[in-house]
Amino acid sequence: MTTQENLKLFHDWVKRMSAYHMALALLGIDKQTLAPVDGSEFRDERMAILAGELFSITTDPRMAELRKTLLSDEAVTGDDRKMIELYDHDISKILSVPKDEYVAFNQLQNESYGAWLKAKNASDYSMFEPYLKRIIEAQKKMYSYRSSDLDLYDQMLDDFEPGMTREKYDVFFDKVKERLVPLIRRVTEAEQIDTSFIETEYPVELQKKYMEHMLAYLHFDKSWGYQNETEHPFTSGLCENDIRVTTKYLPDRPMSALLSTIHETGHGYYMHQVAPEYDGTIFNEGVSSGMHESQSRLCENYLGRSKPFWEANYPALKEVFPEQLKDIGLDQFLAALNAAQPSLIRTEADELTYPLHIVIRYELERGLFEGTISTEGLDKTWDDMYEKYLGVRASSAKEGILQDVHWADGSFGYFPTYALGSAFSAQFMHAMRKDIDVDDLLRNSHYDVIMNWLKEHIHKYGCRYNADEIMHMATGEAFDPNYYLDYLEDKYTKLYHLD
Ligand code: ZN
Repeated sequence: MTTQENLKLFHDWVKRMSAYHMALALLGIDKQTLAPVDGSEFRDERMAILAGELFSITTDPRMAELRKTLLSDEAVTGDDRKMIELYDHDISKILSVPKDEYVAFNQLQNESYGAWLKAKNASDYSMFEPYLKRIIEAQKKMYSYRSSDLDLYDQMLDDFEPGMTREKYDVFFDKVKERLVPLIRRVTEAEQIDTSFIETEYPVELQKKYMEHMLAYLHFDKSWGYQNETEHPFTSGLCENDIRVTTKYLPDRPMSALLSTIHETGHGYYMHQVAPEYDGTIFNEGVSSGMHESQSRLCENYLGRSKPFWEANYPALKEVFPEQLKDIGLDQFLAALNAAQPSLIRTEADELTYPLHIVIRYELERGLFEGTISTEGLDKTWDDMYEKYLGVRASSAKEGILQDVHWADGSFGYFPTYALGSAFSAQFMHAMRKDIDVDDLLRNSHYDVIMNWLKEHIHKYGCRYNADEIMHMATGEAFDPNYYLDYLEDKYTKLYHLD
């Protein structure tokens, strides 16, 4: 077989996997948006069959042999070589685990999820604790089958953000604590901002009317994407020209649907703007969590909460809600939109306090896998850390340790990427501002020009390069958390008149 013939076989295999991925993604979107609940048993059973087929195609030993042949062929270079390496790396993680162990782990994940849900509803950590213990032990076993130079928790971190280790996260989170804990304390002690006028009744029908204006401003075009509603907003992209974003309307929290839409369309733009020749391949599907989150948060926080953004959009908002925003000027509105206050629930946290929620989860995960922290009494350890870093304490496990689903299905190492995303975006913004007049573009409804900068410097590469490489290419420097911490310090010092 010639190199070309082998490469054709490889790309045919990639396309076959992509067909299954597409079917499963569409069924997933349907399940979370429009599908009637009672039909779920029928659908889930068939989805499991498709997932099983996909697993067999992905792990086909003949394809492993083909990849090996291609990688030893010097004529295979550039994108082809990189793509084969990425598939090989990912598939070796699955293949290293004996099949019965893999099935048993999936079973445990389902049981653990069920136990977590019940425990959360009852607000009783003791109902979940045995499962948490089991899933940690099971993960230790699953990872023990892999061959890696990294230690266990570093491998987990690397799975969600390739290249990141405890050593690097420690440097980052130590800086976050050092600079944000005292700043949050000062903000808490300062005169508080009135947010009551954005926490009152805004009829959903009118919110939807305003959303059309917002989607137009975001240049989110119906020719390549659409939006509908769901319980937990998410974005799913099939290819360059088929992007689905979702949102959720809350009658007394009008900014929730708007900000989550700006966030989700940020993910959507990423998927839309990866080079089209990467559609249906790992280059598009494998973008790391931190990089993806950096783009959605850049849109939500750095653009969507800024003054120039609302100089363009506030007049229309006032027109749709004249009663609710009567006598409220732009600056007053912006202060409310950016107000910060330590709270218990991560997903409802503001931009300033959010990274501390992540620090807490990171330190607990790290301790659990290093053996310095036990699952017994973890609810109390959790509460103590909230008190230490944020000055608040949960009155129930539901608002404390049981709030997130991640640990229930064994996703350890995922949380840190959320904080990393926000920090990446600060550095990207800094570089972008050297090239284009972001504020002017926002004021004059040229959001598309900003998105185009992201395309040219970040999006088009997909995960052809890792976060480290893209950071260098887009900003000319290694990742430096000081951009992020400077931004937060500057913004909140001004907002709360701390100087
Ligand atoms: Zn996101």
